[in-house]
Amino acid sequence: MNEAHQMLEQTAVREQPSRDTVSFAKAGVGLLIEDGPTSRLLEGLAVQLDLIPTALQASALDAEHLVGLELIIADEDLAYVLRSSLRRREESAEHVHPALIAIRQRDARPPQEDAGVVFEGILTVPQEPAFLLAQLSIILFAHRAYIRRFRSAMEELQLNRRIFRSVTSGISIASATEPDMPLVYVNPAFEVMTGYSFEDVQGKNCRFLQQDEHDQPGLTLIREAINGRREIVAILRNYRKDGSFFWNELSLSPIRNRDGKVTHVVGIQMDVTTRVEFESALRESEKLAAVGRLAASIAHEINNPLEAVTNLLYLARESEDRAEVRGYVVQAEEELRRASQITSQSLRFYKQSSKPVAVRPSGLLDAVLDLYQGKLINANIKVERRERMCESIVCLESEIRQVLANLIRNAIDAMSGSGGRLIIRSHEASEWRSGSKGVIITIADTGTGMSPSTLKNLYTAFFSTKGIGGTGLGLWVSSEIVTRHQGSLRVRSRQSDAGSWTVFELYLPYQGLAT
Ligand code: ADP
Ligand code: MG
Repeated sequence: MNEAHQMLEQTAVREQPSRDTVSFAKAGVGLLIEDGPTSRLLEGLAVQLDLIPTALQASALDAEHLVGLELIIADEDLAYVLRSSLRRREESAEHVHPALIAIRQRDARPPQEDAGVVFEGILTVPQEPAFLLAQLSIILFAHRAYIRRFRSAMEELQLNRRIFRSVTSGISIASATEPDMPLVYVNPAFEVMTGYSFEDVQGKNCRFLQQDEHDQPGLTLIREAINGRREIVAILRNYRKDGSFFWNELSLSPIRNRDGKVTHVVGIQMDVTTRVEFESALRESEKLAAVGRLAASIAHEINNPLEAVTNLLYLARESEDRAEVRGYVVQAEEELRRASQITSQSLRFYKQSSKPVAVRPSGLLDAVLDLYQGKLINANIKVERRERMCESIVCLESEIRQVLANLIRNAIDAMSGSGGRLIIRSHEASEWRSGSKGVIITIADTGTGMSPSTLKNLYTAFFSTKGIGGTGLGLWVSSEIVTRHQGSLRVRSRQSDAGSWTVFELYLPYQGLAT
């Protein structure tokens, strides 16, 4: 056994194919060498390397004749012909082509092209047989290592494809390197969800799913994320091929190549129509419940001045003294003014504005506190207000009033046992992340405080510790409203013997709904 062979044996032992089943038993080598002695020499070397040599015909070099060969050794000029024939085949097939080795005559002039890039190896002849064998075995070894890697990558790819095909969410892949991001793949679940087949959508931009509704808020988010090469989840109004409507929760993630360049965008689609419809029905019902709760306190608030007026009128009728009667009438007028103030406030509550308007936070707070005045007094709650001047916020007035009413109502509920302090503050602030300017409204109470588990579930729909007294939808709806206004809602709370309290901090940007 010569040196080169030994070397191959050793490396082969070290490079045992481990987990995969790639076997290289008795693979074929095609020979296409005009010079008789060289051809016979290489044939002999191939046999030493456990390969089965076959002579190739220069007239039959199309790809079909090369199937099953692991190695081809050919004179350099013919090797070029073979290379292009193999390349054409490569484009469509998912298998490894044979390693191509060119035989170059020692005195031949090397071609212009860098042959090292084109072939898996170049053997220069004439040459010591031992040296040729060593070179040949190294090329074979490298090629087999490549095949192993190729096959395991293929297996992984096929596994991924099977996963893609079997998941029940719609998956789409768009090319990010071609203009207008055409779709290059959709899985069967996408076809079922949308009614479009892959052939229908191939090469098109995904926007046909929106039909004419191109100014959806979700689309703005998606465009921004795509431009910024970020991941995003957004809910879109989409249409199936048959024209029927569905809510599509779309999550997009950019796929980058090794250089960090985004080459594809993967979209995962989920039909969330049932969920969205359920949630919007809930929001409506909470809106009605909020209005109902307010109606109860409005009735209560109006009843007080009316009772006072009844009493004052009785006194006035019984009195003989003009000055005294006058005094009663003035007081009655005062009470009626309060009653009419409450009715006008409550009329504004009912009016569900659909257009954003600019309102002062202190005005909103006045309106809510007015309506809860009786409750506050009855529950022995002292209101402390400290508001700094700030600009108006652009918002849906009735919605923000609903948020404030719920926060204040929750605070009152928490103090209904033994009274306490309701502290309301507002001041200008800017959000550290976006730098947007706005208002922070703090609503703090010295009520029961919250346990850690209550704190954790606060914003979950239907979570309430009030039994039939609560819906558990107040904060759930509030957080949705605040998010839509691009604001935020934060809470801190403590429960201890030394004193319990809760602080809600509501941030609303001035221009949250202006854009
Ligand atoms: P509801 O008021 O109908 O119970 P919310 O969503 O408004 O629903 O509030 C959920 C729960 O959060 C309340 O049941 C209560 O346990 C807790 N909570 C909210 N605000 C306060 C507060 N200021 N103090 C103590 N607990 C509070
Ligand atoms: Mg509530």
